[in-house]
Amino acid sequence: MDPVRVRFAPSPTGHLHLGSARTALYDYLIARKTGGQFILRIEDTDRKRLVEGAEEEIYKGLRWLGLDWDEGPDIGGPFGPYRQSERKEIYQQYARELIENNHAYYCFCSPERLNDVRLEKQKRKELAVYDGTCRRLTLKEALGRVAAGEKHVVRFKTPKSGTTTMTDLLRGNITVENRMLDDYIIVKSDGLALYHLAATVDDHLMKITHVIRSSEWLPTAPLHCLIHRAFGWQEPVWVHLSVFLKPSGKGKMSKRDAAELIKDGHSIFIKELETLGYLSEAVLNWVALMGWSYDDHTEFFTKEELVKKFSLERLNPSPAAINFQKFDYFNANYIRMLGDVELANMIKPFFDSVGIKADLPTLIKIAPIIKERLTTLDDAIEMAGLFFKPFPDLSPEVLLGKDMSREESRSVIQATISIFSDLPELSKDLSETKMRETVEALGFSAGQVFGILRMAITGQKVSPPLFESIEIIGKKVVMERLEKAQKLLQVE
Ligand code: GLU
Repeated sequence: MDPVRVRFAPSPTGHLHLGSARTALYDYLIARKTGGQFILRIEDTDRKRLVEGAEEEIYKGLRWLGLDWDEGPDIGGPFGPYRQSERKEIYQQYARELIENNHAYYCFCSPERLNDVRLEKQKRKELAVYDGTCRRLTLKEALGRVAAGEKHVVRFKTPKSGTTTMTDLLRGNITVENRMLDDYIIVKSDGLALYHLAATVDDHLMKITHVIRSSEWLPTAPLHCLIHRAFGWQEPVWVHLSVFLKPSGKGKMSKRDAAELIKDGHSIFIKELETLGYLSEAVLNWVALMGWSYDDHTEFFTKEELVKKFSLERLNPSPAAINFQKFDYFNANYIRMLGDVELANMIKPFFDSVGIKADLPTLIKIAPIIKERLTTLDDAIEMAGLFFKPFPDLSPEVLLGKDMSREESRSVIQATISIFSDLPELSKDLSETKMRETVEALGFSAGQVFGILRMAITGQKVSPPLFESIEIIGKKVVMERLEKAQKLLQVE
């Protein structure tokens, strides 16, 4: 395949979400695979919908995912500027060209009149498109009104009969009846171009070869084709990606659905995925497979493997439900692939964020014993917080072994104290071998004995593996805790 030029063109109107991340990933992969360019273009023409900080979040999110771009607002490039709000004059010039060539016209209709037209059309059960009043003005007449300062927009002159056919790489030919298409506004009354014109002009000027984007743009794609054709430009290859459905598979995800997800520790927002303890490798692997597959069984792909194996031909246009279980599965697996030092460094900020002072050397010792048990990095707090937090006050009841009396439970602790005090240190192997030998002699099951010791030593019913934990806590503290438990269980 020839080198492509592809663009990720987000609008900074909200959080960067999974859908955008997937588009950016596919852009990145095909650009890297073909030795082409991946361009970041900020589409901020809709000034009313801008959200402060959203542009910054796009850069941060893409960087976290490791999707570096070759041209963009922050790094420039040969076809800049890459922020649409800085390209106002360019769009105006192209709008004038369309007007001069009879492919666009000035429209002076007031919002009130347009509303009346729409209501009237709805009443008559007609398609609520513009009624073409200003389309019938001569250019001379219109220019006169513009010169007189009359408020106006610019509309595209869509053909009123016949059909328009476009080709989408995943869906084949799509044909629409031109009478179904509106005379879309391409420049607003404030002189700012609307998305349809801006994106088309930019795709042409930036020499974009493939437009890969969400299928929410499919309905207006014929208009974009018509604009390209009106200028006599070559169209890019159109690729409209599959839609994501709610986890239930019933319908698209709403804002409310997205907000609800956080209760289960999930999110569709990239920023939140990071703080929830997901690894960017897992995010990439997971979203890569939401609309693409290599074969019917390979699941794990590093970014480098994706670059090698990705192809547009294997994109799937069918809608797919977001599967967070699969995501958790990927994340747990990627955590297991981390080295101990790497994992320790990655979980440290999670402890910091909840005010637990966890030192790196201890975290490195803990890493191998919790690695297999983590689904997300923040699970480490619950699992390993015990190594750093003050020991809780225990009641005698929680120290009782299953179906055991207070005295029996105390005898287990007593026996452990005498075994442990004879050992030079409480290494995992040594303490475990000794204790397993003793269990039988005590006449209780391993579950009963270790349950008591776990509570007495870690202060928790559930903890990382007991003997590894004992080694990390260290002999001195372990002995103190056992003594304390023994006293608690003494019957007065
Ligand atoms: N700015 C549009 C969006 O955020 C981009 C659409 C496109 O890629 O053409 O959805």
